[in-house]
Amino acid sequence: YSSKYDDDKYNYVKYSIPEYDGKKVKATFVTLARNSDLYKLVATVKSVEDRFNSKFQYDWIFLNDEEFSEDFKKTMTAFISGETKFGVIPKEHWSFPSWIDQDRAKKVREEMKEKKIIYGDSVSYRHMCRFESGFFWRHPLLDDYEYYWRVEPDTKMYCDIDYDVFRFMKDNKKRYGFTISIKEFVSTIPTLWETTTDFLSLHPEYIAENNMLDFVSNDGGLSYNLCHFWSNFEIADLSVWRSKAYVDYFDYLDKAGGFFYERWGDAPVHSIAASLFLNREEIHHFGDLGYYHPPYHQCPVDDNLRLTNKCGCVPKKDFTWRGYSCTRKFYDVNKLKKPANWEDFK
Ligand code: GDP
Ligand code: MN
Repeated sequence: YSSKYDDDKYNYVKYSIPEYDGKKVKATFVTLARNSDLYKLVATVKSVEDRFNSKFQYDWIFLNDEEFSEDFKKTMTAFISGETKFGVIPKEHWSFPSWIDQDRAKKVREEMKEKKIIYGDSVSYRHMCRFESGFFWRHPLLDDYEYYWRVEPDTKMYCDIDYDVFRFMKDNKKRYGFTISIKEFVSTIPTLWETTTDFLSLHPEYIAENNMLDFVSNDGGLSYNLCHFWSNFEIADLSVWRSKAYVDYFDYLDKAGGFFYERWGDAPVHSIAASLFLNREEIHHFGDLGYYHPPYHQCPVDDNLRLTNKCGCVPKKDFTWRGYSCTRKFYDVNKLKKPANWEDFK
């Protein structure tokens, strides 16, 4: 790890060292999935198990808006080294709230379909985004845990992970961890920022002292620059969402109706909240974790890091330092050191 950028300051307890003490934290994987996602998940889960979890045996929670099939439960349980738990999502966490005007919501979906906005005509995608924003962390199966790692079907971990990422979070007082960041399609969130600033003017006390407004806004908060953490991967402290600040923020957004009158994604919602309600040191870029969610890859460009961790990915395909990624901005606003050769991968 000698050339690992910017990491000297962190405590890592490595699985591979003789002093490894095996102390775990209360953490779980969490995957929202349909029964039909099973055979996309097998490869994903196997990569997480092989690269990380077979060494640590953390639990894995699966959530679904319907009952999981026996086949799904049996297969996932066979692949996962920790305990597996399967939960059904309560109806009120996956449906239209009473105050939503159905005609207006339907009209929006038709307009978005015309404009070919991605998932613009989908009702289930909207329930999914609202659920991931406001409810997954309220499912009773998560009550026993402090940290989670979100995993989606069709994703892949590229590198060996020989330290306990959850313990890393706790030991280093990190509360939100990401791999890829990117800019949002503005047509999915036209009024999200305005709704956020309305909320903040009612609750200025929720804004963290050393917040990271400069990651999400280039003009001191007048407008949103569309930067967000790609929330299909998250390793985070559940207390971020359980906090009064976030619960009130989500309620405010939900009342405004933008999950249905627009197509607000959980990624910008989580990212704006993390950037404003957390102190900047609490947000961590897992630059050492090779990750793929179609169509983007994070592949560590530092040769030493990539080879030490046996990352099975193509550094030329790395998205991290490209123009459409926001990770360069994350490093700049936080004055973090980038890998020595990052400019070769712009
Ligand atoms: P994308 O990554 O934004 O293209 O969206 P995905 O299709 O990957 O969906 C995000 C996550 O929500 C994945 O974990 C899906 O398995 C899950 N998901 C999406 N729609 C549904 C749904 O209707 N029901 C359930 N149970 N899960 C869903
Ligand atoms: Mn996905």
